[in-house]
Amino acid sequence: MDPVIDRSGNRNIIEIRDLTKIYRDGVEVVALDRINLTIKEGEFLAIVGPSGSGKSTLLNMIGLLDTPTSGTILLKEIDVTKISANERARLRNRELGFVFQYHHLLPEFTALENVMMPMLIAGVERKEARNRATALLKEVGLGDRLDHKPSQLSGGQNQRVAVARALANRPSIVIGDELTGNLDTKTSRMIYDMLRDLNKRINQTFILVTHDMEMAEMTDRILRLVDGKIVCELRRVGNDFVSGEICTEDKGADQE
Ligand code: ADP
Ligand code: MG
Repeated sequence: MDPVIDRSGNRNIIEIRDLTKIYRDGVEVVALDRINLTIKEGEFLAIVGPSGSGKSTLLNMIGLLDTPTSGTILLKEIDVTKISANERARLRNRELGFVFQYHHLLPEFTALENVMMPMLIAGVERKEARNRATALLKEVGLGDRLDHKPSQLSGGQNQRVAVARALANRPSIVIGDELTGNLDTKTSRMIYDMLRDLNKRINQTFILVTHDMEMAEMTDRILRLVDGKIVCELRRVGNDFVSGEICTEDKGADQE
């Protein structure tokens, strides 16, 4: 089991206050209902909950892919609900790394080029981007697939390329939406180990949406969303989880 790291003294990397997201195309859907959440730098946490509970919406807000209806999000003390689209894009490229359930790689580019892309966008010199992309792909076990295109790789291999791409700019926050959702257990575990290692070595913050309770239980904190609200928070203490507040739902009952 992973040793517990005390992060109580770490700074807040994300502070979410009264975050609400209402979709209004046709019927009104309250996807997030006054969420309050603080995430410390270096946390490794899971978000679980039934399908439609708002998990992806919350990640999209944290990842600056979408804007809330009301409430605030502070990212490293910057109120991202108040900055320009350009500043958001810059922050997204520098501070955030994403991995989705489906890899979203660019089909016409090789694995190496896909991983280099966010670095080139951030202004990293081509040679350096190439070296770092190669190193990352080696780390995810794809050193011999650098010049393969997504169509020439398996689902699990593409997902590993997507993980390497998400890590390319050394983002302070890595967000995964069901990133191991369609992978076999062995590949999932390999990706988890790699993320956990980075988390410990360079204090990167990881926020992973998952419906895999086994995966969730390898993190340090589990948030359960139901109907756009956080209904339960569990924190790791040693090898166990204790609930911060009263959990109204059985965490084992999470079925997608
Ligand atoms: P989860 O990721 O937990 O399955 P989502 O965050 O995707 O849930 O969705 C939360 C709720 O918001 C759902 O009821 C969903 O139908 C609705 N929703 C999500 N995206 C949109 C959208 N673009 N337009 C309208 N409704 C949406
Ligand atoms: Mg989702």
